[in-house]
Amino acid sequence: MLIKLPNGLLDGVDLFNYCNIDELRGKQQNYLANSKLVVNNIGHVPKILGDMVLSFQTEQGLTWKGKIEDAIYKIPSGDIETILIKLRENTYGPRFYYEAICTHCEFHHKDKNQLRLDLDTLELDPLPITEMMTPKKVVLPKSGLEVEFKPIYLKDIFSAIKIGTGSQEKLISESLALSIKTINGQPATSESIENIPISDIYFLSDENEKLKMEGTLDTKVETTCVECGKDFSTKLNPLKADFFSRTGGYLSMSI
Ligand SMILES: [Zn+2]
Repeated sequence: MLIKLPNGLLDGVDLFNYCNIDELRGKQQNYLANSKLVVNNIGHVPKILGDMVLSFQTEQGLTWKGKIEDAIYKIPSGDIETILIKLRENTYGPRFYYEAICTHCEFHHKDKNQLRLDLDTLELDPLPITEMMTPKKVVLPKSGLEVEFKPIYLKDIFSAIKIGTGSQEKLISESLALSIKTINGQPATSESIENIPISDIYFLSDENEKLKMEGTLDTKVETTCVECGKDFSTKLNPLKADFFSRTGGYLSMSI
């Protein structure tokens, strides 16, 4: 299955933003059944992508010559999620059932017929190449430091999982650190981020949400609650191993 990525791999002047993918086989089922890889972890993701991505290509069909295992660490998280979603579609077809908890009354929707989503209807929101090449910089109002943002990559998602199990106080600055490339031109470290005044941290956090750092496949789903009748939104997280379960329940994330 040839798919288009929202970002792609930029190598010199060539943008490899198409990807040829396989379908899941027994070997990948074993990764998904391996609790060491999947419990509170995304260890199955690089393994599955390494096996399932057959090639990266340009729009004109020029194939990337590097190793696929390296490439998956060079594409932003929006591309990783897109590949995983299309992989499910290519394996089981577009029909997908999800569970969702109402953000108003906390009713847990499990009725399969109601919460159906066709994965092939999700819209790609690509980042234009010109925007991809433009540095995303902000100057902090209090400290005057210049901060450059970057997209989130696979290694950042692994770091985020480690952060998630660490102390709460460090949470804001450390998770923000994942999307900071430089501070005053120097590579960001957790120490340099810890020295930023707290008002600037919140400014950074807001700016980070406003600026579009990478393209995505829009996985936001709207549900009308059968209990209270109100609408609420959830988001698919294809990094979770149970996203690939054919029949088991998959709980979408509240947003
Ligand atoms: Zn409700």
